[in-house]
Amino acid sequence: MDINNLPKIELHCHLDGSLRVETVIELAQKDNIELDSYDYKEVKKMLSIDENCSSLDEYLEKFDLPNKVLQSKENLRRAAYELLEDAAKENIKYIEVRFAPIFHVKEGLRLNEVIQSVIDGIRDAEKKYEIKGNVIISCIRGLDLKHVFDSIEAGAQFIGQGVVAIDLAATEKEDFAYEYIEAMKLAKEKGFRVTIHAGETGFGKNVRDAINLLGAERIGHGVFIYNDKEAYELVKEKGITLEMCPKSNIDTKAVNIYDNHPIYKYHKDNIKVNISTDNRMVSNINLNEETSNVIKTFNVTLDEYKKIYINSVNAAFCSEETKKELLRFI
Ligand SMILES: [Zn+2]
Repeated sequence: MDINNLPKIELHCHLDGSLRVETVIELAQKDNIELDSYDYKEVKKMLSIDENCSSLDEYLEKFDLPNKVLQSKENLRRAAYELLEDAAKENIKYIEVRFAPIFHVKEGLRLNEVIQSVIDGIRDAEKKYEIKGNVIISCIRGLDLKHVFDSIEAGAQFIGQGVVAIDLAATEKEDFAYEYIEAMKLAKEKGFRVTIHAGETGFGKNVRDAINLLGAERIGHGVFIYNDKEAYELVKEKGITLEMCPKSNIDTKAVNIYDNHPIYKYHKDNIKVNISTDNRMVSNINLNEETSNVIKTFNVTLDEYKKIYINSVNAAFCSEETKKELLRFI
């Protein structure tokens, strides 16, 4: 199978975790951001995890530096453009780019300016490459609730114009969902679709809560539904798509090796899965490599891959018209 030429759909990709190393160096130098070293190898080490990473929380520390360089309209626009450029070169036909606007207001940008800049970068790339993109607004668990409401208000101005969904990301505690019921209800009223990071670090029940209490239509990861029968059945019955990112799960020690990742088992059991990278830079991977790893580990056939592609298109938060175009590629 010629994996590079397969059309791909990426539903789970964080902008700040997917910068090019050379861009981080360039932006740091341009904006006088002090780094211990500006050498490619050294900066790469600062930005990506190694085998010593022991948890999701440790993994998340890698986002400090990327967010230092993403504090201007120009830099945000460039980062989004480059991500789509990289994706287009991997034959990704559609990508949903997520980021937390709250991380990008430290130098005075307003939340809506952050969002506009990322959309501008996506549009720039769409003009040049055969790829389409939309934005998912991430809110950060562990930060105050106010930023969730502020991010919803800011993002709502762009619904139908580049913003499609809301997400809750970062550190995952058991029963986190209860705190966000009101906020996610408001987001739905404002027209956001909903995807939630859940079942990433051990709590299958969180997936059930994300669906039942927060109205999640897709789940970020959902690895651990195998330890909660109800969550497993709910995902299956409702046809909820799991945005799965095996390398990231290996990095955070949710799974030890590819062979033990549940993605293929779930697919075989008619659970809808999508293959994504999560964070290209932090996890040191791209979608061609990730797709190749999954296909080779589990001997995925072309027909099975087609099914994954079609499920991913159907789960995308884009317009029906875009979906029709995307289905033509397979
Ligand atoms: Zn994620």
